Amino acid sequence: MTNTDNLSRSELSVLANRDALEIAPGRLYLGGQWRDSDSDARWQHLSPATNEEVTTIADASATDVDRAVGAARRAFDEGPWPRLRAKERKALLEPLIALLREAAPRLSRIQTLENGMPISFTSQYRLSAAVAADVFDHHLGWIDKLGGETYPQYTERSDLQYLSFREPVGVVAAIVPWNAPVLQLANKVAPALAAGCTVVLKPSEYASLSSLAIAELIDRLDLPPGVFNLVTGVGATSGEALITHPGVDKVSFTGSRGVGGRILEASGRDIKRVTLELGGKSPSLVFPDADVREAGKAVMRMIALGMSGQQCTAQTRALVHVDCYDEFLDGAREIAASVRYGDPFDPDTNASPLINKQQLVKVLDYVESGTAEGAHLLLGGDRPGDALSAGNYLNPTIFTQVDNRSRLAQEEIFGPVLAVIPFSDEDEAVRIANDTEYGLAAGIYTTDIARAFRLARRIRAGAIGVNGYTFMPNAPIGGYKTSGLGREGGRTALEAYTEQKTVMIETGA
Ligand code: NAD
Repeated sequence: MTNTDNLSRSELSVLANRDALEIAPGRLYLGGQWRDSDSDARWQHLSPATNEEVTTIADASATDVDRAVGAARRAFDEGPWPRLRAKERKALLEPLIALLREAAPRLSRIQTLENGMPISFTSQYRLSAAVAADVFDHHLGWIDKLGGETYPQYTERSDLQYLSFREPVGVVAAIVPWNAPVLQLANKVAPALAAGCTVVLKPSEYASLSSLAIAELIDRLDLPPGVFNLVTGVGATSGEALITHPGVDKVSFTGSRGVGGRILEASGRDIKRVTLELGGKSPSLVFPDADVREAGKAVMRMIALGMSGQQCTAQTRALVHVDCYDEFLDGAREIAASVRYGDPFDPDTNASPLINKQQLVKVLDYVESGTAEGAHLLLGGDRPGDALSAGNYLNPTIFTQVDNRSRLAQEEIFGPVLAVIPFSDEDEAVRIANDTEYGLAAGIYTTDIARAFRLARRIRAGAIGVNGYTFMPNAPIGGYKTSGLGREGGRTALEAYTEQKTVMIETGA
């Protein structure tokens, strides 16, 4: 299961790749300039593959955050940015698309260094650094098309003509997680800048290096100072200072449900606008008329390959019809057996470690609780040894006969753990699928198109994949229930960075 045969513990190191990438010391980007933090506090970035120290980044203080928000505020309130003509704003941002495309191979390697995503996996469209260029390309295309409306005069009792405008919402705090940092940055910064907002970006402390590299590209544009700012640091300190800052008009957040709740609470004081992309416990519904073995493989790929289940939309609850249960498990086991852990820069490595030791401990605790709650541990649940023992690895894990009310089925685990739950008919499958506080995504595996449509409408989740699932920059994605608020992608995302203003004019006619 692991490609460690020729490795001794000391041979698995990411430091040579780090050195080749020539990572600059992590500073802050404030008001158009690279600056040192006001404090000496540094965050030690450890490789999830080896727990070696990769580098340190600035842990921005409340004063740093205040500087960043102040720069963004001035650029919005006094600068030309929100009032630029569409053609001018587009021309200033457009060179970034080519810069991102050119830098994509390096950005992919930085992403691999920081979060352990296997380099082989970054060739997949949605996790390639090139996708960030497409996200910018898509959103910049809206700059000269996003407008308001005029309304027919409603009654002869008024001569007022009504029309509405779309105006940028103001200063945006963009806060992103570590699991797909390049895509997540683009999903927020592109629509915010396109709409005419100014931005303070705070990446995850576990993956700030790619954001720092993209900030270097943004620095090469001719943007007015303060339009884009970057603070790095720990969530509880720099993140908290950002979400509670009165100068921020909108918080756009992707991350866990708990922090999302905290952001809603903190935003209540100033009635800040919020977009929240949160966690999930997404189901896959597998019917006997599907290519069941392929369905088992497709589901297990999301759990065991690539980010090893550390994806918000991973289908971590497999609801499988009793008539095709064993065939599904055969497919899932085939993928589990293909997992190759090892140096994330090795093209043969196809799965990642967990992001940090705390996450490993948390996932091991779920494994224990799964067994204690009566589920059957079919595969995994243990850690690979030898060369991999220094990293945060867990073998791909499958639990069968899982009770949907158990922790294993109700809580987001964020690791390579699949909970398989049997069902007997369509209604039961829908009931189990919707019996969760989350509603981010779902998969339906069937060749019956009528069933696919019927179920896609009945499942309460923001994105439903029928016999497949991926990301496209031009389609809205987001959560029902506790999985989020608002959508990213497409025109809907851009509108969320605007206010709609209605103007009425006495026409005398
Ligand atoms: P997290 O919530 O711990 O952290 C996300 C970001 O919030 C980080 O930048 C962190 O520093 C910051 N943060 C933490 N506490 C904060 C606070 N009090 N105030 C302000 N900022 C704070 O999440 P994570 O571990 O980085 O990411 C994993 C989570 O993200 C999972 O729950 C996953 O499902 C979710 N996620 C959702 C989507 C989606 O599109 N819905 C995509 C990817 C990941």
